[in-house]
Amino acid sequence: MTVFGCRTCEAALTVPMSRVALPVHAYQKYGNGPGSLDAVLEPGTFAVDPLPSGSPWRPWAELVAGEAEALGWYAPRFNISDGPAGQVLLAPGDVRGAVIDPALADDSACCGLDGGAPNMVCVTCGTPVATRIDDCGLWQAVWLDPRTTRVTQDGPGPHPVLDWADLIDQRPGIPPSEPNGSWHPMWPAAVATALAHLLAASGGDPVLIPDQRVAEIFRPTLDRLVGPVSTTPERTLVLAGPGLSEPAGDFALVPEHPQTGEHWPMAQPVKPVPLAWDAWRHLAFHRDPKPVGRSVPLPPEAPQALLPSYRLEPDGQIFLTVLARLPEVRQPRLRAIYDRGRPYSYSYYAF
Ligand SMILES: [Zn+2]
Ligand SMILES: [Zn+2]
Repeated sequence: MTVFGCRTCEAALTVPMSRVALPVHAYQKYGNGPGSLDAVLEPGTFAVDPLPSGSPWRPWAELVAGEAEALGWYAPRFNISDGPAGQVLLAPGDVRGAVIDPALADDSACCGLDGGAPNMVCVTCGTPVATRIDDCGLWQAVWLDPRTTRVTQDGPGPHPVLDWADLIDQRPGIPPSEPNGSWHPMWPAAVATALAHLLAASGGDPVLIPDQRVAEIFRPTLDRLVGPVSTTPERTLVLAGPGLSEPAGDFALVPEHPQTGEHWPMAQPVKPVPLAWDAWRHLAFHRDPKPVGRSVPLPPEAPQALLPSYRLEPDGQIFLTVLARLPEVRQPRLRAIYDRGRPYSYSYYAF
């Protein structure tokens, strides 16, 4: 188990937790409320962003030659984070011994807290230690500041790392459809991330998607970004991973391990395209109910399709951020796709 504490006074600031991978939706803003989304992580887990994140922000124009690439940005941004690397993400319910300080709470958000500077202080010594986020459209989250907090106890946690076979059994993924018929917010984030990796792998060429459900999710956006017409033989995108047969395709949607962040290993020449486990597991193994043994058509009240009835719009901000971190975005064709998203402003990518 891992417990984080205050660097100043050593007081414990969290319950015992196990590390998991940083989720694709860690920084997602989804819609415009009402209210915040669920807790970003399962209870008893934490994730670390190894890269600089949060405020302060530096305008892109201030960067000197070569600095952007040294920081892992391969396409222009509106601004980039100059915040600390190694911020620790957890569910608000796992915090202990820290409280929101109203004097530090930024009141520029809509109806809650949207981050910015640390707004939670250590109860014991008053040091600002964390940032609470709960504004509308944002996942409920707390980020521990690595400058004022540190690991105080370490060891095996409450959630042991599962192997791929156990993951299949124990982590069924997140259904695309919410009870009200809309997409679960994780899906636009997961698909946006995979889409950026697919473009990087394919160089912006059109791609065939034989699996109907994978095609339903990726095809409309892909057609708009790269166009359906091709002068070269099209290459194919298939699912690959634990429990599936060897992929017969050029690109393989492989799962990202939700705890370790590892990708399902793929042998050359198949190019892997990572997809968040909770989406991959669902696409790979859930099938629409089939009328087994029926000799007559299903009546109208038959089980619904598992995908929402309206098209998935990948998350434009996440798409641009992931793509800007991939060196392939420097290829002219991908750069043109990137630039259509107007990444130099606060706007979203309108696919
Ligand atoms: Zn303290
Ligand atoms: Zn609001």
